Amino acid sequence: MGTREVPYGPHIECDNCGKRGAHDFMGDHLCDSCATYTELDSIIPKVGLSAFNELAESHEAHVRQIKKLQEEVHFYKQLEGKETYIERRLHEQNS
Ligand SMILES: [Zn+2]
Repeated sequence: MGTREVPYGPHIECDNCGKRGAHDFMGDHLCDSCATYTELDSIIPKVGLSAFNELAESHEAHVRQIKKLQEEVHFYKQLEGKETYIERRLHEQNS
């Protein structure tokens, strides 16, 4: 079948950390934890490290923006005596 099966040997030493019990990746011997780490490592360059960083940066900017808005809301709440303009409008509509 076409599945890529990686043989596992309980006595094979991991090339990376030296632990016993490793998979044979066509001559490279890696244990479970090292193999997982290596997979992640090779996925990121495929996506593009710059794209990954961009995503991280835009996420940070997003978080910063939310924090700024929360501070703004807090500021106006203090300014208007706990109720914001919108909150007061809602009260007016309900009564
Ligand atoms: Zn290892």
